[in-house]
Amino acid sequence: MSQMNLPQPVANADSAPYWAAARERRLLIRRCRDCGASHFMPRHLCPSCWSDQLDWIDASGGGSVHSYTIVRRASAAAFAPLTPYVLALIDLDEGPRMVSNILGSDALQVRIGDRVRLTFEDRGDGHLLPQFERAGQAVGTLAGAGT
Ligand SMILES: [Zn+2]
Repeated sequence: MSQMNLPQPVANADSAPYWAAARERRLLIRRCRDCGASHFMPRHLCPSCWSDQLDWIDASGGGSVHSYTIVRRASAAAFAPLTPYVLALIDLDEGPRMVSNILGSDALQVRIGDRVRLTFEDRGDGHLLPQFERAGQAVGTLAGAGT
């Protein structure tokens, strides 16, 4: 998904640093200085303890698929040419869960529990959207063992 007239991100006061970092191909999440919880999407108060003492941290870009659906009928005309595409809930290695698309030629083979890695979708005018792609075979696979 890196073409056509797809919507561009709209930053607000809570998310402006997030979108600025995305333009640098970085995924930022917020972490609370008081309770240590990380969260996504960006908020000005910790959803665990309501502290306003929050830091921005760089996510590693690794995660796993909590769940997904394959969209075959787009909810907006701009996405219609992309169908079928994958909308997924990604559990980041740092803890927070985020909504993302799974991109890549093997996206439709996605399964719950698949490892994914961060990638960025170009939405034009320098806007980059954090997205994910399948990370391939799990580490430690026994495929080919004993042959
Ligand atoms: Zn907190």
